[in-house]
Amino acid sequence: MKYEAVIGLEVHVQIRTASKMFCSCPNRYGAEPNTLICPVCMGYPGTLPVPNHEAILKAVRAGLLTGCRIARFSKFDRKNYFYPDLPKNYQISQLDLPFCEHGALHLSGTGFSGAPLPEKSVGITRIHLEEDPAKLTHAAGASGADYNRAGVPLLEVVSEPDMRSADEAYAYLTALKEIMQYGDISDCDMEKGQMRCDVNISLRPVGQKEFGTKIELKNLNSFRAAHRAVEYEIWRQADILDRGETLRQETRGWNDDRGESYLMRTKEQAHDYRYFPDPDLMPVTFTDAEIEALRAALPELPAAKRERFVAECGLTPYDAEVLTLDRAVAAYFDAAAKLTKSPKLVANWIISELLRLLGEEKISIDACKITPAALAELVDLIEKGTINGKIAKEVFAEMFATGKKPAAIVEEKGLVQVSDSGAISAVVTEAIRANPAQVEQYKAGNAKVLQFLVGQVMKLSRGKANPQLVIAELKKQLG
Ligand code: ADP
Ligand code: MG
Ligand code: ZN
Repeated sequence: MKYEAVIGLEVHVQIRTASKMFCSCPNRYGAEPNTLICPVCMGYPGTLPVPNHEAILKAVRAGLLTGCRIARFSKFDRKNYFYPDLPKNYQISQLDLPFCEHGALHLSGTGFSGAPLPEKSVGITRIHLEEDPAKLTHAAGASGADYNRAGVPLLEVVSEPDMRSADEAYAYLTALKEIMQYGDISDCDMEKGQMRCDVNISLRPVGQKEFGTKIELKNLNSFRAAHRAVEYEIWRQADILDRGETLRQETRGWNDDRGESYLMRTKEQAHDYRYFPDPDLMPVTFTDAEIEALRAALPELPAAKRERFVAECGLTPYDAEVLTLDRAVAAYFDAAAKLTKSPKLVANWIISELLRLLGEEKISIDACKITPAALAELVDLIEKGTINGKIAKEVFAEMFATGKKPAAIVEEKGLVQVSDSGAISAVVTEAIRANPAQVEQYKAGNAKVLQFLVGQVMKLSRGKANPQLVIAELKKQLG
């Protein structure tokens, strides 16, 4: 490859709040279209916006979590354009004094392709707060506008052109989403349009300092689509440059079904938004003390959580990675781990059993009937030798289905592990008597048959015998 790709991302994230950015309409997805609206978000003359304090605090938190400098003085501006998704004919946004500037995001792990990534940070130019426009839906011969979305608080996170591959762009999006979720800023549900991204890409000959001509790709509605679009666009631009042609600055769309980008508009058709400060809104100020108080209250981020899980709970980096993919899962593990001396075992149960079952049954961990305390109790029952691993699976399934406590299930079903040597000796004798052919083979030197005999003993004990003791007793009786 003769060219190096240069990539910068502009990501929109809807902030989760009770109400919209400048009015008291609910900020809620999925209602009947145009039922969550009022004169303010419909842009009626004579109405006045009132800023949502919660949204502003969350915007600042997003900045603090990405290492941004927080403005002590910022303001809202009007971005003017005429389009049906914007009943006021201007969007309240921020131009020159955004809440957050000069941050960075650390990339880690692997990209979409699974290839390891270089250790690097991607600069965050700015994070500003604005209002989401209405959602337009276009069908054959008709268009619909849903103003429920108009006025929903929206963050725009603009990166520096620091990424060099589709995998890095993918990792950046993943890291940003994690922060937004852990920071309790947004759920980032892409299917609900809570996180949307535009990708800027240019190519330059390897070794050249100056950036090439930038193409902006709009409306990428999944990380996977973003990754594909970047790869496609690198290929398309390289092909044009290879033919000796020049690129012009343009905005393109991405058709994920066709796997192609298409021209939307060229630089000449760019809007002039005639920004000016919104006279309806007061500037927003913060004191140093206020910012420090917000900083002190920041939640623990996934990267720090992963380190702690490895250092304090004895997990592998892989376990820690899986358990922090979802904030709720991490919180669940944290709660259970605190209640037991065997956090590593708790992690194993969550990763191999709980997450699998939740996935199969399509249940979120918040709706799971097994509480963290109940899982910790189950692990302790295994550790104490009250039940063996096989029985534990049975108990676990029952807990998952009914939400009963493990001790109650064990008690009710009489599942306590049998470790009494007399009782074990008796079933071992019985198994040996019932399987003379296998005993013969074992004695002739086929050691593998022992596993079969262990299985027979376990069956006779209805799964309750302590497997270690069974093996020892079998070996003893078989001489
Ligand atoms: P515009 O004014 O056209 O919106 P900006 O300078 O605001 O352009 O940059 C928008 C995004 O494009 C940012 O994320 C930035 O990092 C990225 N970007 C800027 N120049 C380039 C380039 N030459 N190649 C790739 N991305 C770029
Ligand atoms: Mg821009
Ligand atoms: Zn409203």
